[in-house]
Amino acid sequence: MYDVLIIGLGCAGYTAAIYSARYKLKTYLVGQTQGGLGITAAEVGNWPGNIEITGPDLMENFHKHAVSFEEVTLKLARIDKVEKIDGGFKLYQDDGCTVEGKTIIFAMGSNKRHLGVEGEERLSGKGVTYCATCDAFFYRGKDVAVIGGGDSAVEGAAIAAQVARRVYLVHRKNTFRAEPYWVERVKARDNVTFVLERNLVEIQGDQKVSGIKLDQPFEGNDVIPVDGVFIEIGADPATGLAQSLGCEVDAKGFLAVDPTMKTTVQGVFGAGDITSASNHFAQFVTAAGEAAVAANSVFNYLQTKSN
Ligand code: NDP
Repeated sequence: MYDVLIIGLGCAGYTAAIYSARYKLKTYLVGQTQGGLGITAAEVGNWPGNIEITGPDLMENFHKHAVSFEEVTLKLARIDKVEKIDGGFKLYQDDGCTVEGKTIIFAMGSNKRHLGVEGEERLSGKGVTYCATCDAFFYRGKDVAVIGGGDSAVEGAAIAAQVARRVYLVHRKNTFRAEPYWVERVKARDNVTFVLERNLVEIQGDQKVSGIKLDQPFEGNDVIPVDGVFIEIGADPATGLAQSLGCEVDAKGFLAVDPTMKTTVQGVFGAGDITSASNHFAQFVTAAGEAAVAANSVFNYLQTKSN
């Protein structure tokens, strides 16, 4: 039986594994995507100690660090089910294997939100995608729309503007949640058009995207012809498994944790984008901080139990 089962291979999961290993805990780290959402960040300029680093490079460093410990077993798999057993918990993987541990840290992050407009599901993968920074490269010389007003959308628009002919940044407000750093970068590009106070109501196209329809005309037209649509309207915490164990979520649907990252179920902890900690401020640095605290709490919990 492992001391700790950590689910999630993003910033929080890797950090929790590093700290657990240094506490000499027998650690099982499992997830589907190595690097999690962190690999979608084209540029990270707010990870202290690196003036600038790409998301994939940063996550590669995390990965190498975590697997450098003999205490850490890393597995690429999806967890389909989790249940309480005598003395701990049991994970059921999609490869048919099961793993048991005394404690769990949920660090599964979040799932990208969909808009739910006509044409979106039908044209998904045919011009509609949910990661501007990952997919912009395929739209060299083309026209694209990025939807949203947070860091993901505005950073995505900045990256897309480096390759696309024109980028329409469509946002339902005229103010941005994104860091002013990114907004200024986008404003400095002459191939970005801000389409503000407009909602996207339909994505048009037959075999592939041909345009977006707005709820109000923009410069006299309610349809803007584009080849790609990057939907960047945030993400919802992946709390399904934790809830199946009885963990509570807060009013916004995040995993409820106390300041020690304990959930409402004994032996179960959370860290990163999945949690209600850090006032829902989803950053590399907050995810890493929460994960360090979660691993420390696991250590304290196991010490108390063994005394
Ligand atoms: P956010 O939740 O921060 O922003 C979502 C944006 O989408 C908001 O502007 C919101 O509008 C808009 N939106 C939400 N729902 C709809 C809808 N149905 N129709 C139209 N617009 C909608 O999500 P992000 O993915 O941008 O960021 C998530 C977290 O990750 C944040 O904490 C962010 O700081 C962080 N992040 C950090 C990065 C970095 O540090 N380099 C890079 C990327 C993300 P409104 O403003 O009106 O609510």
